Amino acid sequence: MSRAVDAGLWFNDGNIVLVAEDTPFKVYGGLLSQKSEVFRDILAIPQPATPDEAELMDGIHIIHVSDTWRDLSHVLHAIYHGFRVFAVDQHLSFLAVSALLRLGQKYEIPELKEAATSLLKSCFPERLADFKYDTKLQDDPPYYRYIIFDPPLIRMRLEDLPGVINLARAYGLPSLLPSAFYLCSLLEVKHLMNGTRDHDGNKIFLPKKDIIRCVNGRATLVMKEIIELPRISLRVADGCESEACNVADMFQPTDNDWSTLVKYAGTCFQDLSWLKAHFESEDCLQCRTNMEEELNAFRVRLWSTLGGIFLLDDDDDGDEEDLSLMDD
Ligand SMILES: [Zn+2]
Repeated sequence: MSRAVDAGLWFNDGNIVLVAEDTPFKVYGGLLSQKSEVFRDILAIPQPATPDEAELMDGIHIIHVSDTWRDLSHVLHAIYHGFRVFAVDQHLSFLAVSALLRLGQKYEIPELKEAATSLLKSCFPERLADFKYDTKLQDDPPYYRYIIFDPPLIRMRLEDLPGVINLARAYGLPSLLPSAFYLCSLLEVKHLMNGTRDHDGNKIFLPKKDIIRCVNGRATLVMKEIIELPRISLRVADGCESEACNVADMFQPTDNDWSTLVKYAGTCFQDLSWLKAHFESEDCLQCRTNMEEELNAFRVRLWSTLGGIFLLDDDDDGDEEDLSLMDD
């Protein structure tokens, strides 16, 4: 056994030893059997009368599982230390949530699967009003961009987003896809094409069709924002009689306005502080209120069409030739 034992998952009076990769976990079989029908069946298999010496640890017959030690440790922590893992102030990493969903399904542990699903649905909601996030660049190399959800239920990096899309597809969670594609489209194309790495350094790839969805969807979003946002931010409210507002020249966007717009285009579900600062400089309350209402209406419209922008309803079959150019 090469890896150091996780003291939190090594109970001296435990009665089973699970080994994932090279890592042993000494835990209580009774609790595991109660939580998981699959483990109940595994643990019910009678042990050989003359066990191989090499397969014993602390005098207990070893049970090998095919999971990674990291995945198994997330699940065992959730089972044996759930009060801590699911505490309000604990923010699970995306890898932990992913492990709970995948192994929760595999070992038939509905509580873990439901917990993971619920966390993902909170971060990738159906309603725009529930979608609250910001991004933050890590100060030190390798300069990951973190997605900061509000509340911060899952710790996630931009590089994790392809993994969210793959999970949503594999585990029948289509409601996650519009917002997951939106965030994933913020990745640079080279990261989409070459794959990203999860926190353990394993490569994550999107299927080519989903890479195309990200790239095309991003282009559409940017275009829509570049067309719509100046119109909204320059608009004079119906009925505004302010002379200043109605002098058209006053509303010509400067070069600086345009470069700000282009810089931030495609991120209009974020906090939009740059655009709000523009509104706040507007003296006329009537026009300012009007702009804010128009902006909110635009975001709601855009949100409701995300599925179309990322072609999520398109049938996957029949356009293989379109992808042949991307084969290397
Ligand atoms: Zn006005």
